[in-house]
Amino acid sequence: MKIRKGYKYRLKTNHRTASQFVRFSGACRFVWNKILSINEHRYFAGVPRLSYADACSLLAWWKQSEEYGWLQEVHSQVLQQCLKDLERAYANLFAGRTAPPQYRKKFLANSFRYPQGFKVDGRRVSLPMIGWVEFWDSRPIDGTIKNVTISRQGKHWFVALQVELDVPTPVHPSTAEVGIDLGIATFAATSAGELHPPLNAYRRVEKKKARMQRRLAGMVKYSCNWKKQQRRLAHLDIRIANCRHDFLHKLSTHTSKNHAVIVVEDLQVKHMSKSARGTVEEPGSHVAQKAGLNKAILDQGWGMFRRMLEYKQAWRGGEVIAVNPRYTSQTCPECGHIAKDNRPQQALFSCVACGYTYHADIVAAKNILALGHRERLNACASR
Ligand SMILES: [Zn+2]
Repeated sequence: MKIRKGYKYRLKTNHRTASQFVRFSGACRFVWNKILSINEHRYFAGVPRLSYADACSLLAWWKQSEEYGWLQEVHSQVLQQCLKDLERAYANLFAGRTAPPQYRKKFLANSFRYPQGFKVDGRRVSLPMIGWVEFWDSRPIDGTIKNVTISRQGKHWFVALQVELDVPTPVHPSTAEVGIDLGIATFAATSAGELHPPLNAYRRVEKKKARMQRRLAGMVKYSCNWKKQQRRLAHLDIRIANCRHDFLHKLSTHTSKNHAVIVVEDLQVKHMSKSARGTVEEPGSHVAQKAGLNKAILDQGWGMFRRMLEYKQAWRGGEVIAVNPRYTSQTCPECGHIAKDNRPQQALFSCVACGYTYHADIVAAKNILALGHRERLNACASR
């Protein structure tokens, strides 16, 4: 079985390499934003967007022009990778997986990628057109390096190496199964009865961020203080992202280590967060509450959690099953009775038919696990 793994190290930059990094990532941002803006105009004009090939030839043309000739100073494959990323962003959008691609901002998006031409030798990496850069090695690399990404976080630059490993197909050490209900009040409840509270990384610093943004608005654009404040804001965003990442990693590792089969709800987070203004089922009721709920949903990073579970299970030889979450919060796990009244309160499940009473989120997790069982049986039967 082939798996992909990432290694990330902090680079030892000097003035020359750092300014090259700034130039390369800036060029990527420029190309991304430029093509995105052209496509937006085309969209409003009713013209089909530029394909990847169109964008590539436009890029070649820009390089020959006087205005954008400076793009020649950036490695061409790096710019091509950026166009490929944009193409993938469109593909994801049209498949309904993600929101439209966004403009890249200077203080947030600083990265570029080489698909080939790089070399890694001990604690240093050779980057085409930039040269050898040393890094702080913290663990040995095994496997074939597929690509190299350089990115900035705060004041440091990092190199991320994606490697492909050929490993024997693993067999999960555990035979346990678990159902997981994801929620707002409780981030994850398991069918085994565990309750994991949410982190609410964003909520915690939200006020601080709003205050910082107000201060920024009062500053003279592009002044020294404005730039400093931009950097502080970017820093805060990085911190929020790091906290969330850490939280989700810990929980997904714990869950994946101990269970061969994990059953989750097939939540289409995107649809949930979009539906505040009204869906077919509930046309626009409780818009304000739902808008708050939506922010919380996105804050929890459910989608990220699911992806982490999936790749961690793949490494270990486990499985993730996604089931339709319909009625999982209203079904009695004891007698199977389905009723809205089974859930008199947010956190309480109490069956109106048989009187079974338990924590509502854990009940939902139990139902999710049961649905997972059914799905597996169906899959086996149809084989
Ligand atoms: Zn019951």
